[in-house]
Amino acid sequence: LFVVLEGGDGVGKSTQARLLAERLTAAGHEVVRTREPGGTRLGELVRALLLDPAHTEMAPRTEALLYAADKAQHLAEVVRPAVARGAVVVSDRYVDSMLAYQGAGRVLDAGEVEQVARWATEGLRPDLTVLLDLDPEQAVGSLVSKDRLEGAGAEFHDRVRQGFLSLAAREPDRYLVLPARRPRDEIAAAVWARVAALPEL
Ligand code: C5P
Repeated sequence: LFVVLEGGDGVGKSTQARLLAERLTAAGHEVVRTREPGGTRLGELVRALLLDPAHTEMAPRTEALLYAADKAQHLAEVVRPAVARGAVVVSDRYVDSMLAYQGAGRVLDAGEVEQVARWATEGLRPDLTVLLDLDPEQAVGSLVSKDRLEGAGAEFHDRVRQGFLSLAAREPDRYLVLPARRPRDEIAAAVWARVAALPEL
């Protein structure tokens, strides 16, 4: 089983990923909690490269290919083997982040970005994607973050948000969209109710 937490910066994805992983573990499942970018040794190196504010010269296509490289390694090394042995993978970000940030957010063609992202991940789709939706202005620390997106501005984060929402609208059965302003434990309960009802669990 493969569950992904998605959303903009500072919406609480990591917290919800942790809470979900704890409940799954308590219910007796083997859980692999992971994240993108990162999640592998190579991926953490790519992540450091991507988030380093010093790389102001990074071209949008370079950025997209580095995210794709991170995904390819993460899929091959972590996600695929864990799903194959029956573990539950809980990932903080996956393909949709690339479609929202590098597709909707940057100037790249959305269809081309999608092809690259699907190629990198061998077309593997999550069983469920939880989208934590929030007005970027209300996100914790989002517009004061110290990484390369610091100067990206409100319009960028708005495009990312709309990118996520339109992906969710495309496949409503595979998404759970929750307003990220709700109390942490309410969100966790809603996520758990949906995950526990998945036929694959
Ligand atoms: O999820 P996390 O906050 O750790 O992501 C690190 C940074 O990478 C964030 O600023 C996020 O906006 C950015 N990011 C991105 N494109 C992606 C995934 C993450 O710009 N595809």
